[in-house]
Amino acid sequence: MVSHFFIVVSIISVEVFLPIRTDNRKAIGSVQLTEIGEFAVMRKERPKVPAHFHTGIDIKRPGKNYVDEPIFAVAEGTVISKRDDGPYAQLIIEHQTEKQKFWTVYEHIAGLRVSLHERVTPAKPIARFMNEVELNKYGWQFDHFHFEILKVAPIPVRVDPAKPQRLFNSYSLVCYSKSDLDKYFYDPLNFLRKQFSH
Ligand SMILES: [Zn+2]
Repeated sequence: MVSHFFIVVSIISVEVFLPIRTDNRKAIGSVQLTEIGEFAVMRKERPKVPAHFHTGIDIKRPGKNYVDEPIFAVAEGTVISKRDDGPYAQLIIEHQTEKQKFWTVYEHIAGLRVSLHERVTPAKPIARFMNEVELNKYGWQFDHFHFEILKVAPIPVRVDPAKPQRLFNSYSLVCYSKSDLDKYFYDPLNFLRKQFSH
């Protein structure tokens, strides 16, 4: 007697979406960046921060909604770090596909709607752009959100009791050469374009 074993291989693919709502979330061309918001531009030295490469993109709010303009995770994943302490509020999400692991970072966000370790999907907002009251308080230079895609795991940080859920940090301010940048980060728009091209 011959037994046949059928191995069912399920291929888990990851769909990647835009982190903002547009009429068609696959319209990658509709993402607008701030004037100095491109990936890999050199950022000038400022007090306490040496000159460094911009490790992500600064995405403009897509509409004129200064009350509740939502931000989405680009793919399904798990929240591994959260800080919600003003203009540097940040979420880091870990994504696992059949081919690779990658991490996305959302910063200068507000109204965080997800918990640490929560499983998220691109269907529900994770946060929103700052509203008018917050921009008046923190400054209108934060009228965008900073978005990164990491190639390697973020850096575990010693937990600060003031930010107990901030468990990881990105490599945002430590990229002083193109090779640092290439080691840690994907160009986010290229990465998203590639996902949409098949
Ligand atoms: Zn930025």
